[in-house]
Amino acid sequence: MNHMSSTAPKFIRPATANRLLASLTHSDLTRIALDLEPVDLVLRQLLYEPDAEIEHVYFPTTGCVSMINVTPDGSVEVGTIGLEGLVGVPVLLHGGSEPTRALVQVEGQAHRISAAAFRTVVAERESMQRVFLRYALALFNQVGQSVACNRLHSLESRCARWLLMTHDRVDGDKFELTQEFLSYMLGVHRPAVTLAAGLLQHAGYIHYTRGHITVTDRPGLESASCSCYQATRDNFTSLAS
Ligand SMILES: [Zn+2]
Repeated sequence: MNHMSSTAPKFIRPATANRLLASLTHSDLTRIALDLEPVDLVLRQLLYEPDAEIEHVYFPTTGCVSMINVTPDGSVEVGTIGLEGLVGVPVLLHGGSEPTRALVQVEGQAHRISAAAFRTVVAERESMQRVFLRYALALFNQVGQSVACNRLHSLESRCARWLLMTHDRVDGDKFELTQEFLSYMLGVHRPAVTLAAGLLQHAGYIHYTRGHITVTDRPGLESASCSCYQATRDNFTSLAS
């Protein structure tokens, strides 16, 4: 056993690695930081379940969380949340729960706050509330874009879009993404996922093996994606302005 590596201090990303927290005023950030605690986002961890009370609001600093709608006929990802946002918008909007599941799709880190403390701090600070509400609108827009995308665009271009969105939220060019998750993301069965990923791999944009994705040609992958990728990205960029 390697004693050194087992005791090496773990690097914890600061709260300001989350773009939403980084965009707060110094005073608001200092206030909310009193109630934040760093946590790991573990692959397949459920941050909340449909119709259950949401206990914490998470601000990811790396990794990716999927909002997944569960139906008797299967599950489809309807939104992706990473370092640009927060997981727990229903708490912000005074809902107790929501019909979706929040699942860690790519492992990473977050800072979290209890739902009760979050409600208190947001009620205290109007400037902070405004930042979070603008994010809720951007997330709403992202979900709307996904609805249009799922109806109008090819599986291959949708696959490219989701890979780009995930790539934006992780460190480096490699990440783990199981076929199961890709099938959630795209709302299709696994053989179709294999086919779409195979086309992108054949074009040289990605390398995909046993759930490990490496983006090998980012501009190529962007060219293979539908316009929804850029539209969603512009939507979040406009938040920061
Ligand atoms: Zn699209």
